[in-house]
Amino acid sequence: GSVIGILGGGQLGRMLSVAAARLGYRTHVYEPSANPPATHVAEKVVTAPYEDAAALRAFAEGVDVITYEFENVPTAALDLLESLRPIRPNRRALAVSQDRILEKDFLSGIGLTTAPYAAVDDEATLDEALAHIGAPAILKTTRLGYDGKGQARIMDRSEAPAALAEMRGAPAVLEGFVTFTREVSVIAARGLTGEVAAYDPGENVHLGGILSTTTVPATLSASERTDAVLLAARILNALDYVGVMGVELFVTPGGLVVNEIAPRVHNSGHWTQNGCAVDQFEQHIRAVAGWPLGDGSRHADVVMENLIGDDVLKVPAIARETNAAIHLYGKAEARPGRKMGHVNRVRKPA
Ligand code: ATP
Ligand code: MG
Ligand code: MG
Repeated sequence: GSVIGILGGGQLGRMLSVAAARLGYRTHVYEPSANPPATHVAEKVVTAPYEDAAALRAFAEGVDVITYEFENVPTAALDLLESLRPIRPNRRALAVSQDRILEKDFLSGIGLTTAPYAAVDDEATLDEALAHIGAPAILKTTRLGYDGKGQARIMDRSEAPAALAEMRGAPAVLEGFVTFTREVSVIAARGLTGEVAAYDPGENVHLGGILSTTTVPATLSASERTDAVLLAARILNALDYVGVMGVELFVTPGGLVVNEIAPRVHNSGHWTQNGCAVDQFEQHIRAVAGWPLGDGSRHADVVMENLIGDDVLKVPAIARETNAAIHLYGKAEARPGRKMGHVNRVRKPA
């Protein structure tokens, strides 16, 4: 096949389209909102809601394989698309990562460590969960959260009613607070024939719930670095996964704790664009198109900095720096909290 369908036209869909073009593929993007970042990069952008069966059908019929940059595609839309074309990564990976409880059940089921957790629907179940898990804890909506949205910290049990109110009636999960020394993520890929490749783990710093920087190499012991990569491979194999995945980890004195997984290219993998011969976007296109995986070994130290909101005003100054690769997403309006681009500062050869 020569056309790759991408659900979602944000910056990830844009950068996937660029990578696909470099490999000789055309991309069609399906995106409910108008003028998404992928617009001038994809061959075609379909602007229609996920409820529009006719638009979904036409989209699927125009492509050879379907992938996604956005994991919250409604189930009915996926059912229709899957009846027409292969979806990679597969439906199970999507189902598991769409729901924080299914995700933690899956991860603990394959022997990995997560924060202690319990489902919360109302005051009574929250009370019970807090009695079991204790405070501090974090209450999160089970679905649709990102960039720290849909979360409330409970430092003391007296804060429980306010936290529950913040869920606005949505099903939630209470997670015990993990006292981590640092946060890292592994960007890993699995090909159609089952081979696995992982990038060197990156160390992540969040500000206000949003990823601010990713640094490679991460500060990890040799055994932690190996553990991180091996546990990511275990996740991909267990899901019979095809494509790139981001695995977010907490580093603790007792070992690595899995925070969450993202069944797609990941913001904390953007450093690979300037640190590896084959970056996460090319790797994902290779996997979903059935190619062999590429060489993801790291040839430089990199600090990736997200340009969020008005950070984008720093671009003219950054453009004067040496060894700073600028990636902008073509978004017109720099609203607070909006990811406008990122810069990869390449420090020195590894
Ligand atoms: P993303 O944009 O990464 O998808 P998200 O909204 O899904 O974010 P999480 O990754 O669950 O949010 O949490 C955001 C951040 O909050 C984490 O990276 C971590 O810093 C902190 N955090 C979340 N859960 C816990 C926990 N159980 N213990 C300690 N810190 C946590
Ligand atoms: Mg998340
Ligand atoms: Mg996260």
